[in-house]
Amino acid sequence: MGESKSVCVIGAGPSGLVAARELLREGHKVVVLEQKHDIGGQWLYEPNTQEEDPLGREPWLKVHSSIYDSLRLMSPREVMGFTDFPFLAKKGRDRRRFPGHRELFLYLKDFCDWFHLGDTIKFNTKVHYVGPFNYGASREDLKWVVRSKQKTKSGEEVEQVFDAVVVATGHYSKPRLPCIQGMEKWRRKQMHSHIYRSPEPFRGEIVVVIGNSFSGQEISLELVKVAKEVHLSSKTVEIYDGLSKAISKHENFHFHPQIDTLREDGSVVFTDGSSIIADTILYCTGYNYSFPFLDTKGMVVVDDNRVGPLYEHTFPPSLAPSLSLVGIPKRILGLPFFESQGKWIAQLLSGKRVLPSYDEMMKSIDDFYHSNEVAGIAKRHTHEINGFDYCDKYGENVGFPKLEEWRKELCVSAVINLFVNLETYRDSWNADDKVQEALRSPYFTQLGVELE
Ligand SMILES: Cc1cc2nc3c(=O)[nH]c(=O)nc-3n(C[C@H](O)[C@H](O)[C@H](O)COP(=O)(O)OP(=O)(O)OC[C@H]3O[C@@H](n4cnc5c(N)ncnc54)[C@H](O)[C@@H]3O)c2cc1C
Repeated sequence: MGESKSVCVIGAGPSGLVAARELLREGHKVVVLEQKHDIGGQWLYEPNTQEEDPLGREPWLKVHSSIYDSLRLMSPREVMGFTDFPFLAKKGRDRRRFPGHRELFLYLKDFCDWFHLGDTIKFNTKVHYVGPFNYGASREDLKWVVRSKQKTKSGEEVEQVFDAVVVATGHYSKPRLPCIQGMEKWRRKQMHSHIYRSPEPFRGEIVVVIGNSFSGQEISLELVKVAKEVHLSSKTVEIYDGLSKAISKHENFHFHPQIDTLREDGSVVFTDGSSIIADTILYCTGYNYSFPFLDTKGMVVVDDNRVGPLYEHTFPPSLAPSLSLVGIPKRILGLPFFESQGKWIAQLLSGKRVLPSYDEMMKSIDDFYHSNEVAGIAKRHTHEINGFDYCDKYGENVGFPKLEEWRKELCVSAVINLFVNLETYRDSWNADDKVQEALRSPYFTQLGVELE
C-alpha cells in the first residue's frame, strides 16, 4: 500500500461509484457526496420535472437525470458492465439484452452492495463549491475545500478540506440549445429533452423535434403514436436506412432540414422555405459540460464544450493528481472506461504511479488539439472518442486489461443493426454466437453466480 489520502468524490453515478471503489481498494479514505437521495446518476429516474425550467437555462439545475420513461439501453448488457462485475440477467428482473433503464440502476445498486460502498456515500448533499485550500502550493501539496449543503438537515453549509477531489458529476443534464432566429419570441411550448418523460402530454399536438441524434429519433418515434404530426428537423439531410424506413412507416412523421426562423404566430420556417404551425418545439440538441461549483482559478475552463486543459481527458496539468475529472469522454464504452480512470487516479494519489511533468502533459494536450484541428474536428467534439483503441491505450497507463474482442464485436454489431433496424434492433439481432461466447467467457463466470 502506498500513501493514504482523504478523497472527496462528487457524484454517485456510475463513474463516481467505480472511482470510489478503486480509491477504497487503494487504501484511501473516501467520502462520496451525492445531491440526490440515491445512487445511479442518470439511471436514477426522476419522473417529476415540473420544477425545472423547460429549457434548463439556469446554471443550477433541479433535475439531474435526463432519462425518459420508456428508455432502453443502446448497448447490449454483455458489453456494459465493469470488468469484475458483469451485468447479469437475473431472475425476476428485466432480463432482456437491451433492458430498460431501471435494470442498469439495479445493477449499480448490486455493485454498491457487492463492494460495500453504502457507508461511504452521503446522500442529499449538494456540493456548492470546490476550490483550492492552499492556492499557490505546489501541485503535489494542493488540498481542496469542499462546501456542501444537506437537503434534509437545517440546510447549513458544511465545509471540509480534502487531500484530493474527484469530480464525477456527469454531463447529460445541462441542455445545449441552438441559436434560432425568433426563439425568444415564439410563445408556444418550447422544451429540451432533458425534461421529456413520456409522449402522453403531446397527444394531438403538432410537435417539432430538433436534433437527429438517437434521443431525437427515439423520442420522435414514440411521439408519432400519439401526436397529430411529428416534424423532425435535422442539420444533416442524409439519413440512414433505419430512420428512413421508420419515417416511411408513419404517415404523420416528417423530416425537415434545419429551422431558419420561428415566428410569433407559431410558425416554424425551415431552411428549404417550407413552414408549419406547431404546438411544441422539443430540443433534442444534446448537453453541455457544466461545473457551476468548481473554482480552479481559471485553470480548467469549459470553452465551446471543451473542458480543458485536461491530460487524457482526466487531469488538469497544473492541479493534478489532487484534482481529477472522471466520465468526461463520450462515445466510449462508459463503465469499463470509468473504472480505468478510477484505478489510475487511485494509484496516482497513493504514489504508486506518477504523471508526466507539467510540460509533457501540456504538450500532449496541445498535440491532441492540433491533430483534431488538422482532422477538421470541431472544438465542441473534443471529448468524443469514437472507437476502442483509445480505451485500450488509456488502460496501459495503469495496467488495465484491454477490452475483450467479443465486447468490441458485440458493440459494433449492435450499432450496425441499429442503423438498419432502428425500431427493432433491441429485440432482434444476428449475434447469437458472439453472445454465447461472451456468456461462457471467464468474465461472465467470475462471480460464481449461475446463469440460467
Ligand atoms: C437519455 C440518455 C441515454 C443514455 N443511454 C446510455 C446507454 O444506453 N449506455 C450508456 O453507457 N450510457 C448512456 N447514457 C450516458 C450516461 O450518462 C452514462 O451511462 C452514465 O450515467 C455516466 O455516469 P456518470 O457517473 O459520469 O454521470 P451521471 O450518471 O450523470 O452521475 C453524476 C452524479 O453526480 C451527481 N451530482 C451532480 N452534481 C452534483 C453536485 N453539485 N453535488 C453532488 N452531487 C452532484 C448527480 O446527482 C449524479 O448522481 C445515456 C444518457 C442519457 C441522458
